[in-house]
Amino acid sequence: MDNKQVLLRKRPVGQPSTDDFEIVSAPLPPMEAGLVLRRTIYLSLDPYMRGRMSDGPSYATPVALGQPMVGHTVSQVLDSRNPAFKPGDFVAGYDGWQEFGCSTGAGLRVLDSSVAPISTAVGTLGMPGMTAYVGLLDIGQPKPGETVVVSAASGAVGSVVGQIARIKGCRAVGVAGSPAKCDYVAKDLGFDDCVSYKSPDFLDQLRAACPQGIDVYFENVGGLVFEAVLRLLNVNARIPLCGLIADYNVTATPPGPNLRPLLVKRALIKGFIVSDHNDRLDAFLRECTTWVREGRIKYREDIVEGLEQAPAAFLRLFSGENFGKLLVRVSADPTR
Ligand code: NDP
Repeated sequence: MDNKQVLLRKRPVGQPSTDDFEIVSAPLPPMEAGLVLRRTIYLSLDPYMRGRMSDGPSYATPVALGQPMVGHTVSQVLDSRNPAFKPGDFVAGYDGWQEFGCSTGAGLRVLDSSVAPISTAVGTLGMPGMTAYVGLLDIGQPKPGETVVVSAASGAVGSVVGQIARIKGCRAVGVAGSPAKCDYVAKDLGFDDCVSYKSPDFLDQLRAACPQGIDVYFENVGGLVFEAVLRLLNVNARIPLCGLIADYNVTATPPGPNLRPLLVKRALIKGFIVSDHNDRLDAFLRECTTWVREGRIKYREDIVEGLEQAPAAFLRLFSGENFGKLLVRVSADPTR
């Protein structure tokens, strides 16, 4: 039996194209003790695959040229020499872009088709659903009454995010790329609202959809949507940074900060305002005073003479002309 496979032929620059792939037929390995042979029923196509086509620095190994593309699959077991699986079983796995998978069965999960349609094992009840669940609940930590905004809201991850947000008693607002998608998100999925980022007045629409501001932004796209959301954040907002699909095919660095390292390094950004932390004042004074007195903390002062110099001195902060802590000596210091 031959196994049709889609191989990665070349690495795309910018937008991928069909030329990047090659379809071949490869012989299946002979069945041996321990092996499980299955026929792919569903192959999940996901944005992360774009990353696997490139060999730039990444959190995951790229697909090698000439190898089948990777991907989550739902399959049916045809033949099994492993007692954990029997012919006819439906299994979720990671067989990639090919007609058949054959392995020891490591990583395969048997599905119960009476519980949910088997296709959901690569969607809402698979990797995308899990992404939504973990990102929203563990990182976003939504509380009842809060507003949760999610981009790519009609998609595999975003649709689950908004619906879990509703279950948790939040206002769920989607952002999507067309009126039809927004209709689906609001009417069929039951989000409180959904706005199209392609509308010329997107920011105004988003503001109207989030009258109490935004407490959780589940980021799937980056770019202009992120920029708009940043203007509407509430104090102590949380941003699970899940994906930046708007950037996946760009060939030049887009303007603004490159957030990709935050995602790849699983870094956490948390804003803070020092005045919220006055409970630390005593500890700070105690420790730092000691360190200054011991010479373990050194400092430099840039002292300008006369209050009239204050405006010009102030500007030096922004030209970098100050060197050390900028102070104005308004009158003589009797201790020096
Ligand atoms: P979707 O089903 O949401 O499909 C992708 C959608 O992204 C498109 O339908 C489109 O929706 C939107 N999109 C595409 N290009 C752009 C663009 N230039 N600007 C704005 N939106 C765009 O995909 P998934 O739900 O599978 O994935 C959503 C995100 O989650 C992706 O960024 C993905 O990489 C990320 N992800 C991250 C994981 C992780 O572990 N961190 C795991 C799984 C997914 P529209 O028409 O609304 O613009």
